[in-house]
Amino acid sequence: MMEQYVEIKAANPDCLLFYRMGDFYELFFQDAEIASHALGIVLTKRGKHLGKDIPMCGVPIERADEYLHKLIAQGHRVAVCDQLEDPAEAKKRGAKSVVRRDVVRLVTPGTLTEDSLLDATRNNYLVAIVRTRASVGERTRFGLAFLDMSTGEFHLTESDNIAAELARLEPGEIIVSDALYGDPELAPLLRTLPVTPLGRDVFDGATAERRLASFFAVATTQAFGALSRLELAAAAACVTYVERTQIGRRPPLSPPVREAEGATLAIDAATRANLELMRTLAGETRGSVLSAIDRTVTAAGFRLLAARLAAPLTDPDAIALRLDAVDTMLGAAPRSELRSRLASAPDLARALARLALGRGGPRDLAAIRDGLRAAQELAARLSDLAALPDELRDAAVALRRPDPAIAEELARALADELPAFRRDGGFVRADYDAALDDTRALRDESRRVVAALQARYADETQVRALKIRHNNVLGYFVEVTAQHGERLMAAPLNKTFIHRQTLAGQVRFTTTELGELEARIASAADRALGIELEIFEALTARVTAIAEDIKAAAHSLAVLDVTAALATLAADQRYVRPQVDRGLAFAIEGGRHPVVEQALAAPFVANNCDLSPPTDKTVGRIYLVTGPNMAGKSTYLRQNALIAVLAQTGSFVPARSAKIGVLDRLFSRVGAADDLARGRSTFMVEMVETAAILNQASERSLVILDEIGRGTATFDGLSIAWATIEHLHETNRCRTLFATHFHELTALAAKLDRLTNVTVRVKEWQGEVVFLHEVTAGAADRSYGIAVAKLAGLPAAVIERAKLILAELEAEDRTSHARRLMDDLPLFAATARPSPGPSLDEAGNLVIAALAALNPDEMSPRQAIEALYALKAKTAEQD
Ligand code: ADP
Ligand code: MG
Repeated sequence: MMEQYVEIKAANPDCLLFYRMGDFYELFFQDAEIASHALGIVLTKRGKHLGKDIPMCGVPIERADEYLHKLIAQGHRVAVCDQLEDPAEAKKRGAKSVVRRDVVRLVTPGTLTEDSLLDATRNNYLVAIVRTRASVGERTRFGLAFLDMSTGEFHLTESDNIAAELARLEPGEIIVSDALYGDPELAPLLRTLPVTPLGRDVFDGATAERRLASFFAVATTQAFGALSRLELAAAAACVTYVERTQIGRRPPLSPPVREAEGATLAIDAATRANLELMRTLAGETRGSVLSAIDRTVTAAGFRLLAARLAAPLTDPDAIALRLDAVDTMLGAAPRSELRSRLASAPDLARALARLALGRGGPRDLAAIRDGLRAAQELAARLSDLAALPDELRDAAVALRRPDPAIAEELARALADELPAFRRDGGFVRADYDAALDDTRALRDESRRVVAALQARYADETQVRALKIRHNNVLGYFVEVTAQHGERLMAAPLNKTFIHRQTLAGQVRFTTTELGELEARIASAADRALGIELEIFEALTARVTAIAEDIKAAAHSLAVLDVTAALATLAADQRYVRPQVDRGLAFAIEGGRHPVVEQALAAPFVANNCDLSPPTDKTVGRIYLVTGPNMAGKSTYLRQNALIAVLAQTGSFVPARSAKIGVLDRLFSRVGAADDLARGRSTFMVEMVETAAILNQASERSLVILDEIGRGTATFDGLSIAWATIEHLHETNRCRTLFATHFHELTALAAKLDRLTNVTVRVKEWQGEVVFLHEVTAGAADRSYGIAVAKLAGLPAAVIERAKLILAELEAEDRTSHARRLMDDLPLFAATARPSPGPSLDEAGNLVIAALAALNPDEMSPRQAIEALYALKAKTAEQD
């Protein structure tokens, strides 16, 4: 046996091996040490290997899922090795034969299908990444394939912004080639994620087409559209990995669907975190935008809502289709009826995936039955609605796709009460299969005979308390208390009763008759189970034969759920339909923050925002938002970003009206001080992120900057904020909201024609500050810091002293200093336009020489920065 173990383990060196022995999965050697530590289970020993004890631990098969869950969550991979034959068959081959075993599946984080291992509210994506070999001067491009094995979704895309894509998908597992894994440029990103590096063959471009086509059993992959080489390689990597982990089993994967690049709004990880889209900065779902807008009633609906919110669209026509559907649903009378019918629909897609992989149980068949019925009924309800918009009409058609005969067949076949596992039996309804009914009758009849036998034995022995019992070791046996045991062991009764076991209080016997009966019962029960398992296979085959139809119906149920949920949200929270087009407008009237308004006891003060291009201009504006602490600046910034996100998701928005020229990218950053308070970040990170925005934001982007420059000394911070605004205004020309506590910046409005000062109003009343949360044109005249400090309960003496100091400082008047500065400095444009650089040859030689002299391994970050400046200066010398 150990030989067999060592051989199988050698073939799966990167996995913990779950080696099936009877009712346990055992782990040996180092695996046992790792697992016992990770799972908190006892480490024991079994036999010797090369003269040393073999460490061992094990988990019972009924609880295997639970332990698998823990191991996967801790980043382990597990190879499940099962017995491929009955131990009896092995014995037939010879007394010393070992039961045939082999690995039937690799359990990895990205290939899970069990409900107990999955989060019902999230897609679990397996993502494959490939990269073009970047030639000098060309941008690196990535091909991405992502699939959710538990639902069968499969998508492809190309991108040059891998970080934003991964932030959107939140993969369960990422596969990359060893080479890419070792790439220093990607390491900082990949190190933080669940990555499995794999050999080159998995990512081989030359065989990609063939592997993908053979997985889907098609002659060529042209059926999937014109795939780029990158997409093809990524897709092939995904299916190869699925084949390797599922070992002969095929999940019901849909053919890959291409997502055009730029089809979704790019939102990088920092922006997602800042806006608290999927979870709050503290990592909780509650308090996130997703949970604030969620009114779905099914797990599949919630997953779709989350996926849509994570990837808002950029095509106004596609957005309009979704909004039309919400609009119709909003007016539809039977919305609540639809929703209550939806609520009882099970998770069709995941049940289907388990059945297709041979991991399904009777309850999965029941889920298909109930889901298909719900689909039929909902299709009928939908057709009651008068004019269906496209999205709902398509849904209604898909809901009708699965053959209704299958749901009926399942209804006939399945019993009312269903066991968790098919091996438990008893899930086929009486009257469904004649042969099964007969065998069950035989089994039950024999059980009655056992009962009669007990009565007869009690009579014959005069032991009234004699019982016939059953356990897994002895099978059926006769049991009497110790005091009667003697009598049964003495003549004449010992002719009938054969002693088997003496316990503290009882003695156990068997009889020839009981043995025969037992064999009859066991074989009838075995046969009954055998028939049930055949029926299970047949039903499963019928279900998986229409897998594509079932998935289409499942998706439509989710679409219906999301649509009805968004309509319900709009009705409850007074959201309006946004107008989304290809222009560059950004005009929100009476906008609100979707999360804050629901959390607030007091009424939320609605605010306008108009970043649309001024009448004589073609690009959008910048709002410079000032106002004291706690006035509502951050809330205002975020609410406008969220209104755009919701609009492009296809949801109504919390506003009186909203007109938005579709965004291509959304950026949101918070000054380092805020982040530092959460222990997350430093000024350096703030600057790196600001740099990313200035390099990437286009005229179509929306940029939200909240007190950038706060994490450093005043003049540094002011200067950086100043230069950043100028760059956004002159070069990026994107619609921007910029909150700042540097009042000096308001002077910029005089010079930058598309910059508008707005302020969040506060009122002073009897020496106290009152927050009005109202955004109006103009600049805050004072910062009210002292008033806020007083509100916070600083001692009166400190407040008085602070007022004195402030008065002194104000005499110096930094604002007028800034005005002067602005008049003296050349216009931003004059400094920002890149001057025609030196020829590559001259500068190149100098720079290359300087580079060769550097030794990065021995430099401090500061020295590195200085060296960089020195290099930069070398290029400038050539001007
Ligand atoms: P700032 O960024 O100016 O310091 P915040 O945006 O963090 O202020 O807002 C502070 C608090 O004021 C919020 O937590 C919220 O409770 C409240 N608030 C902000 N905006 C509004 C509003 N428009 N209506 C009602 N309350 C608001
Ligand atoms: Mg703030």
